[in-house]
Amino acid sequence: MIDIAIERMNILFNRAEMEFITHPERSNRYVELALKLSTKYNTKVPEEWSRRYCKSCKSFLKPGHNSTVRLVNSEVNIFCGECGHAMKIPYHREKKLKRRAKYDSKQKRINE
Ligand SMILES: [Zn+2]
Repeated sequence: MIDIAIERMNILFNRAEMEFITHPERSNRYVELALKLSTKYNTKVPEEWSRRYCKSCKSFLKPGHNSTVRLVNSEVNIFCGECGHAMKIPYHREKKLKRRAKYDSKQKRINE
């Protein structure tokens, strides 16, 4: 049942993406339905879509149309153009891993 819910959420978000230019109010409705599914079956919204809706006003976001994405202080800032809410997603871990990989490759070169 959970697989079906995830499949349906993917379909709804794809629909929202398709309809956004012509009918933005429909895509907001599709987001609403997908979020209802995620609460009913206690599953997360698929990862590829979790940054594509506003956590505050639940409207569908399309970067360049009604949202802006900026990298500030090791955070991904996603501003909603509808209500002005800013979602801040840190990426410290990724930065750390990159630094570690750089250091490791340097050490390898020294040891050779
Ligand atoms: Zn919003």
